[in-house]
Amino acid sequence: MIETKPYADLFLYIDGAFIGADERESDEVVNPADGSVLGRLPHARPEDLNKAIASASRAFESWRWTSPLERGKVLRRVAELIRERAADIARDLTLDQGKPLAEAYAEVFNAAEHAEWHAEECRRIYGRVIPPRDRNVRQTVIRQPVGVCAAFTPWNFPFNQALRKVSAALGSGCTVILKPAHDAPSAVVALVKLFDEAGLPPGCLNLVWGPSSRISRHLIESPAVRKISFTGSVPVGKQLGALAGEHMKRVTMELGGHAPVLVFADADLDRAATYLSTLKARNAGQVCMAPSRFFVHKDVAREFTEKFIAANAKLVVGNGLDPATTMGPMTNARRIAAMEELVSDAVAAGSTLAAGGASSDGPGLFFPPTVLTDVPLSSKIMNEEPFGPVVPIATFETPDEALALANALPFGLASYVFTRSLEINHRMTYGIEAGMVSVNHFGIALPETPLGGVKDSGVGSEGGTETFDAYTTVKFISEMTA
Ligand code: NAD
Repeated sequence: MIETKPYADLFLYIDGAFIGADERESDEVVNPADGSVLGRLPHARPEDLNKAIASASRAFESWRWTSPLERGKVLRRVAELIRERAADIARDLTLDQGKPLAEAYAEVFNAAEHAEWHAEECRRIYGRVIPPRDRNVRQTVIRQPVGVCAAFTPWNFPFNQALRKVSAALGSGCTVILKPAHDAPSAVVALVKLFDEAGLPPGCLNLVWGPSSRISRHLIESPAVRKISFTGSVPVGKQLGALAGEHMKRVTMELGGHAPVLVFADADLDRAATYLSTLKARNAGQVCMAPSRFFVHKDVAREFTEKFIAANAKLVVGNGLDPATTMGPMTNARRIAAMEELVSDAVAAGSTLAAGGASSDGPGLFFPPTVLTDVPLSSKIMNEEPFGPVVPIATFETPDEALALANALPFGLASYVFTRSLEINHRMTYGIEAGMVSVNHFGIALPETPLGGVKDSGVGSEGGTETFDAYTTVKFISEMTA
C-alpha cells in the first residue's frame, strides 16, 4: 500500500482568491474504499456566486481580447504543471473517487494532453471570407467568444472533465464558473490551483461548490452567464437544458449512454472478451462510454460469455491505492443501490446470474464484476444505463436484428462493434445511431477526436476541431467602401 500524504485542503476559488470552509456550510468528503472522512468541502453562499459572476464578467472584458498565443501559453503551462504534480493529484483522486492509482495517473496525463490540444487548436479558430455580389463589398464571418460560461462537471473523471470544459472555454476567450460534483473534489481544486499558478488572470476561472440545484439555477438565470456546459445524467441534463432554454442560453450536454456492444460470429472472440472486460472494469464501470448492453451472435454467445467471465475473473477488486488492484470501489452508495436493483430485477425477469452479483459487506463500496445472461430486453438493465460493473448479455441472429437492438433506446453516445467483415463493419458504423462507434478496439475520447452524443445522450461535442464551436458565436460582417 502506498504511503499517503494528508488529503488536499478544499477550497472555493473566486476572483483569484482561495476560500476555505471557515464558517461556511460544508460537506464531508468520504473515501469510498474504506468509508473514512477525508476532508470538508465548503459551500458557496449566494453572495459568493454573485461575486464569481461579477469577476467572470469583468475578466471576460480583457481575456476575450487576448491573443490565442497568450491563451495557449497558459494552457501549455498548465499541461506542464499537471505532469509535474501528477503523483499528488492522482493519489488524492484515488482517495476520493476510488479508481485504481494507475487509472488516476492515466486520467491526469490524458488531461495534460487535452490542455495541449486546446493550446494549439485555439490558434485555428478561423473565420472565412464569402465572395460578395458587389466588388465594393467585403463579406467576412468571424467567430467570437460567447462570454461567461457555467460548467457543471461530474465525479467519474473529475480532473479530466473539468479540464476539458475549462480549456475549451478559456482557449476560445471565454471565462468560466465551474461547479463540479461533490463526490470527488480534490482533483478539481488541484486543477484550479494549477491555472492560478500558470498565471491565469483573476476571474477567468472560478470554482464553486454547494447544493447543485441551487447553484445551477442561480448561474443559469444570471443574464451575465451566456453558455452552459454539463456532463452528467440524462434527467439532470434535461432539467438544465430546459432552464437554459427558458433563458435562451447555449448548451453543450454530454449525458448518459447505454453503449451497445455487437459481437458478430466472425469476431476475434479472445480479443473482444479481454478488451471488453478491461474496458468495463475501468472506473468500476462508472463511465458514460462504458460498453453496457452486450448483443452476441447466437452461434458464439456461449463461447464469448465463457471467455468474458474468465477475463473478469482475473480482475482484482480492492482499494485503488493497492498496486494489485485493477478495479476500485464504486464512488458513492447510490451506485451500489443501483447495481443491486438492476441485478435483482434482471434475475426476477428470468436472467441467469452467471458471475458476481452481490456487494461486499464493507467497509468500502465494492461491487464485483457481474454478468447476466439470457437477459430479457424488457428488464431494467437493458433499458437503463447501469453506470457500474454489471453486464447483461443477450443474443441476435442477423445484422439487421443487431442494428435494431443497438438503436432501440433513446441513448446514442458510444457503441462498439466486433467483426472481421468489412461489409458488416460499414453497415454498423453508418447505421448505428450514436455519436461514436469504435470497431474491434476502444478508440474514443482522445483530445484530437470529437466526443459527444445524439438523441438523449446530448448536444454538441468536446475535443477534436469541433471543440470551440460551442464556445464561440458566429458574426457576419458586410463592409462597403464609402
Ligand atoms: P445524478 O443524476 O444525481 O447526477 C448526475 C450529475 O449531475 C452529478 O455529477 C451531479 O453532481 C450533477 N447534478 C445533479 N443535479 C444537478 C443540478 N441541479 N445542477 C447541476 N448539476 C447537477 O446522478 P449521480 O448519482 O450523481 O450519477 C449517476 C448518473 O449520472 C449515472 O446514471 C450516469 O448516467 C450519470 N453520469 C454521467 C456522467 C457522464 O460522463 N456522462 C458522469 C457522471 C454521472
